[in-house]
Amino acid sequence: MAVITNHMPTSELQALDAAHHMHPFTHGTGLAGKGVRVITRANGVWLTDSDGNRILDGMAGLWCVNIGYGRKELAQAAARQMEELPFYNTFFQTTHVPAIALSQKLAELAPEGFNHVFFAGSGSEANDTNLRMVRTYWAEKGQPERNIVISRWNAYHGSSVGSGSLGGMKGMHMQGGMPIPDIHHIDQPNWWAEGGDMTPEEFGLERARQLETAIQELGPERVGAFIAEPVQGAGGVIVPPETYWPEIQRIVDKYGILLIADEVICGFGRTGNWFGSQTMNIRPHIMTVAKGLSSGYQPIGGSIICDEVAEVINGVEFNHGYTYSGHPVACAVALENLRILDEEGIVTRVREETAPYLKEKFETLTEHPLVGEAKIVGMMGSIALTPDKASRAAFESEAGTVGFICRERCFANNLVMRHVGDRMIISPPLVISKDEIDILIARAWQSLDECHAKLKEDGLMKARVAS
Ligand SMILES: *Cc1c(COP(=O)(O)O)cnc(C)c1O
Repeated sequence: MAVITNHMPTSELQALDAAHHMHPFTHGTGLAGKGVRVITRANGVWLTDSDGNRILDGMAGLWCVNIGYGRKELAQAAARQMEELPFYNTFFQTTHVPAIALSQKLAELAPEGFNHVFFAGSGSEANDTNLRMVRTYWAEKGQPERNIVISRWNAYHGSSVGSGSLGGMKGMHMQGGMPIPDIHHIDQPNWWAEGGDMTPEEFGLERARQLETAIQELGPERVGAFIAEPVQGAGGVIVPPETYWPEIQRIVDKYGILLIADEVICGFGRTGNWFGSQTMNIRPHIMTVAKGLSSGYQPIGGSIICDEVAEVINGVEFNHGYTYSGHPVACAVALENLRILDEEGIVTRVREETAPYLKEKFETLTEHPLVGEAKIVGMMGSIALTPDKASRAAFESEAGTVGFICRERCFANNLVMRHVGDRMIISPPLVISKDEIDILIARAWQSLDECHAKLKEDGLMKARVAS
């Protein structure tokens, strides 16, 4: 068998992929029929595929390549670390410099009172850690019955059994026996789709108060924690109304439950601050991190733990950990990534320059006939596609039909924009320039035009009649 390289014809790579590679969140034979796109290299915000197309990556990979592609410093950090110490564990009375240095750096960057880090290999693993840690915390505090964790429908917290159960993706729960017991879901603060006749402010309060109702119904002595993304990402970049988080914080404080902020997407500059909790002005006890922690150059995740929880957990033998918890190469790469984000002022530039510019341009998309609302925080944004803006109507077709058509048009115009149902989302590398933002918006506009034309042609511009 010949060596498989970038130089093989695309069709051969596609055939081999279809024969042997099973893709996440993908209908396998469906994909084989369509043919996958083969990405061969990348630089800055630009991907190159096996046919030589240059594609603007409006999603930073999977929300993770915050510093952009092609930073040689990270490759060098990995090579240096692999030569010096490619692996050692942190289980049995041992440690190593990359894990020490990265946990110190995270404590420095995190809000006050966060001085402890438990490493994992991914965001899913980190949320599994969190689930066991909050239950262990309450057990150690003499309240073992406080084992319920409340989460939200349409939240995404990962794909393992624990984290997938914490998440509120119904399509995931339908397969493989999830959710596990003692996880309770409340409704999400998605005003566009679910706000009815309420103002966004009223709706934000109503959704937040579902937390209080749930706590009362389940019994305040049984609820240990609430987990949420500061801004829902995979659920479609749902920016909550302004009334939402202050009310959640009030309820969390009132009942003394732990707040887990899943910062896997929001962390490391995505919202214009180091953490989404700062942007949303909330005070969590645990922050889940992954993705932007290493800008995706290495798989790594973790939990940043507040002093109060860390003190309790440090007081027991916590029987939990992963072979690759604090993997030295991943830590070295993450540390270099944080150095670049910090020293090059990337987070500050996002907050003060590029995110405001992107917001101004992105919001002009609401002038397009297909676009109902445009919501954006820092460098994560979404638009709702609709056949009728005034009534915020959904399309008559199955949710996602129109979004998929729009994504296809984006792909054809060499722009990666993802769809979640009939919402289109962006989350570009944080280093995107103003010129590149202009290109992104122009291509989005072009794709929306083409999508609109196709919908009219196919008779899909029809609103769903409310049942
Ligand atoms: C991606 C994601 C996760 C899961 O991270 P993995 O590294 O894919 O396991 C968890 N939480 C949020 C908010 C995410 O976006």
